[in-house]
Amino acid sequence: LTAPGQLFEMEEVVIRGIPTRVWKHAPDSLRTVLELSRGHGDKDFLVYEDERTTFEEHFRQAAALAQLLRDRFGVQKGDRVALVMRNLPEWALTFWAAAAAGAIVVPVNAWWKGDELEYALADSGSSVAVVDSERHERLLAHYQNLPQLRAVVVADEQRSGQPPTPVPGVETVAFADIRTTPGGDVQLPDVPLAPDDDATIFYTSGTTGRPKGVVGTHRNMCTNLMSLFFLNTRAQLRRAGEVADVSEGGQNAYLLSVPLFHATGCHSILVANTAAGGKLVMMHHFDPERALELIERERITTFGGVPAMVMQILDSPDFAKRDTSSVRAVAYGGAPAPPELVRRIKQHFPSGSPSNGYGLTETSSVTTMNMGDDYVRKPDSVGPPVPVCDVAVVPEHFEGDEPTEDLPRGPQVVGELWVKGPNVVRGYWNKPEETARTFTKGWLHTGDIARIDEEGFVYIVDRAKDLVIRGGENISSVEVESVLFEHPAVADCAVIGVPHPVLGEEVGAVVVLRPGAQVTAEELTRHVKERLAAFKAPAHIWFRSEPLPRNPQGKVLKRELRTELVEQSST
Ligand code: AMP
Repeated sequence: LTAPGQLFEMEEVVIRGIPTRVWKHAPDSLRTVLELSRGHGDKDFLVYEDERTTFEEHFRQAAALAQLLRDRFGVQKGDRVALVMRNLPEWALTFWAAAAAGAIVVPVNAWWKGDELEYALADSGSSVAVVDSERHERLLAHYQNLPQLRAVVVADEQRSGQPPTPVPGVETVAFADIRTTPGGDVQLPDVPLAPDDDATIFYTSGTTGRPKGVVGTHRNMCTNLMSLFFLNTRAQLRRAGEVADVSEGGQNAYLLSVPLFHATGCHSILVANTAAGGKLVMMHHFDPERALELIERERITTFGGVPAMVMQILDSPDFAKRDTSSVRAVAYGGAPAPPELVRRIKQHFPSGSPSNGYGLTETSSVTTMNMGDDYVRKPDSVGPPVPVCDVAVVPEHFEGDEPTEDLPRGPQVVGELWVKGPNVVRGYWNKPEETARTFTKGWLHTGDIARIDEEGFVYIVDRAKDLVIRGGENISSVEVESVLFEHPAVADCAVIGVPHPVLGEEVGAVVVLRPGAQVTAEELTRHVKERLAAFKAPAHIWFRSEPLPRNPQGKVLKRELRTELVEQSST
């Protein structure tokens, strides 16, 4: 299996009734990936602050925890185990243990407030929640509304020095009390797992208000892994002889600066790194100066995240003071990247190659990737699709359920991007209508507006879905609008993305007040922050005396509104 040609062979299979190309030699489940990772032995698996864990230690701890989840908390195949925390070693460990125990892992956004966290735990029906102490405090008033919850494990009480506050009627334990590194012969519990068994439910901002649970299978996750192997192997073959591998002991070192509760962090960094035997250097949260310090200290070979993070690192006053010569790849995605970034990275990292990956939670991370010379040649493209994945551009209001031969084609044709392949998830958790609307005959309607050039390179030119992407974090306009509408002074409102040089976009709100009502922008922002995670609150509020522009169906013309306001504020 080591010859790249053989490793990346493909075959046709039928998944959920849809003929699809898959990687022939891909691992069948996350459990197999974990088993294979044991082969990396004494290499560093994870570095967090002063803690270091080897691959062998990690395997032993994960196997013991998987068994404990089954024996002590009664976790059976298909049960949901929620991860409600910032990046911590316990996140990675529980992820692997729960997946190997056959559970469905539910990563929850750590920035969410109590109500939002309760919603994710209730909607997923999680029976075990592994939380950090900050989220635990936030959830204390909410646990009583979660009758299906059997156990709460508090991950960082050892670090915070606080014993976990007990939850009435629920087994409450400190992670430190259940974490063990058993000696002797250690095996994973014997749970049969098939490629199309569910593995994860990631909550993402829907375009219709409340976040939706995206249900990913083991096959989805393993497909992404193989696609990344394929891209990296191709890049290495192209670069062979050009750049020697200078990383410590030949091991790649990956700086994890994005949250693990997003698909990029979990699928493309944690899982890929575990399989590839790289050292994962975990940041609790992003900070450019700390990132630079870790790049120097741990001889990081790959870092990235969302473009905003890369820009903050390049702009940091500490950049010149740090040794960043170990960096070989600067990999980013998740939000539009300015083409200028390619040149800047080349300038700052003489032997570091930039790459831009496009994907969605619904495509289990990477769908297209632009890297190497191609990216220098076409810095405004997100690259061609990965080999197992088909892409098509369809007219924005196309009624069909799969792209047809007679659709207009060619580099000038702009429309909604549809994606099909074994990386596309099966749908949304308990949301059959939204699933049927978004996934047709295996094609995911991405809600992104794109074009594809004559070489098959994809360009994301706009977004049809009603989302604001702030520093890679998706925010549903409808969710923020619903909260604004709850304010007694608000008669009408529209939430739009406002361009920002580093974050990409910020939340802007256009508000029409009720006759005679008075409220300040600060009051409205506070109103949102009290109800939703702080990053969803508007950074700009415009009050408008005339009605919002609408189309004949009553939909607010947001693109028009955005152009008008953004132009107005730049003059
Ligand atoms: P998420 O599901 O949170 O990963 O968000 C997916 C959305 O982020 C996509 O539908 C795009 O709108 C946007 N996105 C992801 N990657 C890129 C990229 N490389 N360039 C432009 N937009 C991107």
